Amino acid sequence: MRICVYGAASPTIDEYYKQEVKKLGLEMAKRGHSLVFGGGGHGLMGAVADGIHEGGGHILGVIPKFFNDENIEAVFENCDELIEPDTMRERKQIMEDNADAFLIVPGGIGTFEEFFEILTLKQLCRHNKPIAIFNINGYYQEMLEMLEQATVKNFIRGGCLDLFHISENIDELLAYIEKPAKEWKISELKDG
Ligand code: AMP
Repeated sequence: MRICVYGAASPTIDEYYKQEVKKLGLEMAKRGHSLVFGGGGHGLMGAVADGIHEGGGHILGVIPKFFNDENIEAVFENCDELIEPDTMRERKQIMEDNADAFLIVPGGIGTFEEFFEILTLKQLCRHNKPIAIFNINGYYQEMLEMLEQATVKNFIRGGCLDLFHISENIDELLAYIEKPAKEWKISELKDG
C-alpha cells in the first residue's frame, strides 16, 4: 500500500521519537508498503524516510518549490520520486490522491492540520481510507481527550472518533491500515 505519513519537520525533538518513527519506516518497507510524505529531510519526516529507504521501500516526496527557493527546509535526498507543486494546498491534494492510507506520527501545527483535514474529509465521506495515529510516548493523549470532550458536548458528531485508530504499537497500526476500512455512510453521523 501507499501510506502517507504526516509528522514533525522539527530537527530539535527528542531522539526517541526519531528512533521509533525510523522503526515504523523499516517495518512499512518490510511489509511491502511505500511512503508518500512531505519530502522534508529532518525531524520525523526524515526519520520515516530513512527507515523506508534503508528497508528498500519506494518514496514519493511532495514539497512545494518555495521550500527550496526560500531555504526553508532541506529536501530528503533519497526520494525515488519528487513532486514540487507551487502551493501547500496543491501539495496536500497530491499527497491525498497518491495515498491508500494515512498515518500520523507526532508533530506540530502542520501535522495537526493534515490530520484534521483528512479526518474531516472522511467524516464527510470524501474518502474511505484508513487513518491511524502513532501515539509515541502518549504524545496525542491530550488531543484525544479534547476530542472526547468535544464529542460529549456534541461539538463532534457521534461515530467520528471511530474513523481512526490510535496506538503506540507499530504492528497494531499497520494491521489496522492493511484491513479494508469499515464502510462508512454519511447517514451514520449522529447529532448528539
Ligand atoms: P509540523 O508538524 O508543523 O512540523 O509540520 C510538518 C507537516 O507539515 C509535514 O507533514 C509536512 O507535510 C508539512 N511541513 C511543515 N513544515 C515543513 C517543512 N519545513 N518541510 C516539509 N514539510 C513541512
